[in-house]
Amino acid sequence: MLKREFPLVWDRYEKTSLEACDAFAKEYIDMLSKGKTEREFVREAKEACEAQGFKNIEALDRVQAGDKVYAINMDKNIFMFVVGSEPMAKGLNLLGAHVDSPRLDLKQNPLYENNNLCLLETHYYGGVKKYQWVAQPMAIHGVVFKENGERVDVVIGEDPSDPVVGISDLLIHLSKDQMQETLAKGVKGEDLNVLVGSRPAGEEKDKDRMKAYILDLLHEKYGMVEEDFVSSELEIVPAGRAREYGLDRSMIMGYGHDDRVCAYASMRALFEVEQPTMTTGCILCDKEEVGSQGATGMHSEVFQHVVRDLMERHGESTGKEYRAAMRNSRMLSSDVSAAFDPNYPSVNEPNNTAYFNRGIVFNKYTGSGGKGGCNDANPEFMAKIRGIMNQENILWQTAELGKVDQGGGGTIAGIMGNMGMSVIDAGIAVQNMHAPWEVVSKGDLYEAFRAYVAFLREMK
Ligand code: MN
Ligand code: MN
Repeated sequence: MLKREFPLVWDRYEKTSLEACDAFAKEYIDMLSKGKTEREFVREAKEACEAQGFKNIEALDRVQAGDKVYAINMDKNIFMFVVGSEPMAKGLNLLGAHVDSPRLDLKQNPLYENNNLCLLETHYYGGVKKYQWVAQPMAIHGVVFKENGERVDVVIGEDPSDPVVGISDLLIHLSKDQMQETLAKGVKGEDLNVLVGSRPAGEEKDKDRMKAYILDLLHEKYGMVEEDFVSSELEIVPAGRAREYGLDRSMIMGYGHDDRVCAYASMRALFEVEQPTMTTGCILCDKEEVGSQGATGMHSEVFQHVVRDLMERHGESTGKEYRAAMRNSRMLSSDVSAAFDPNYPSVNEPNNTAYFNRGIVFNKYTGSGGKGGCNDANPEFMAKIRGIMNQENILWQTAELGKVDQGGGGTIAGIMGNMGMSVIDAGIAVQNMHAPWEVVSKGDLYEAFRAYVAFLREMK
């Protein structure tokens, strides 16, 4: 065909595909609703992969073609592999996505009382437009480790019988000054304090009675004392389940599509792969929203260690053969793309923008200010990907993150590229990115899943 065409997923799907697409969306909605922190998502992924026959690599001395293994790093990363028939030195076919999402983390010393109200101090995590996070029902998710090492899992605000918490916003009637501020300054980071109580404990003469009431509650329910906040990871996230969006139910609204939508589709794609030629893998990483640093971010060497562990158990050298494996690997670094938004058309250049329902999005490069900091995928690699997508009849599009010099961004592709792999950014278009509630198309989700399966099976 001389001219490029951009059909919509809905025009391509027969009745059975539409049913499969809806069923897939339903399962995703369920996992997204349960996995609102990186730890929760990794826990769900572990359960899901074990149900598919994956085994912890630590428990195995040898692996062979067809084996399914996983490794978990600090409960916040999971690496899953299906061993191929070819040596790993010929390269792995990898899918990578991140499972951390923007949110508000509690500070180390969060609990305080002000004029008989009890609040929690937060520090936002990742890029957020702060004004979006106020006047909303919020939940508290996370873990607390007591001094003796005992772990307590916390989820408050999800069960319909649970209370929710939240951050107040100034009433419009008294917002004369605030309304003159820019969006960046109207709600300040230090004002993102979560209201959690207004009921007193003790007697009228006592001090900080509302705080005392909350501490009593936490002690009663979790055996917690105030100092335990220091060894906790408690995240304030939007309360409630993800759900169908649009009168026609064609989309999904949920918290944390960035990037659990790609993470989920990647994981499910790996589960479709039996007896692959190349060893295939799915990486779910943490800390992407804050620069991928630290032991659970993609900059850490843990991934390389896990690949060496895998190669050792496969009887391959962790020297020369490992280096060849890295250089020969091929990866889709999957993260969400900015979907065209009819309310804000001016930030995009229409010929190079991601649109809902046109399938998986490939970004040859990301970056900002003249592709700064980007991973620029090689055209040789793009040609292979195109070939596979077209051969498998998968809908795909390419996009940039906004107009030239409008802004920009980047993800883990460059980090993996630094290891010598062929990597391209790929993913699913999302509206409201980094807002408490983000939106994706069901059709794009299913098409990305199909694209990932094709990539894992066919890429050489
Ligand atoms: Mn992302
Ligand atoms: Mn993001």
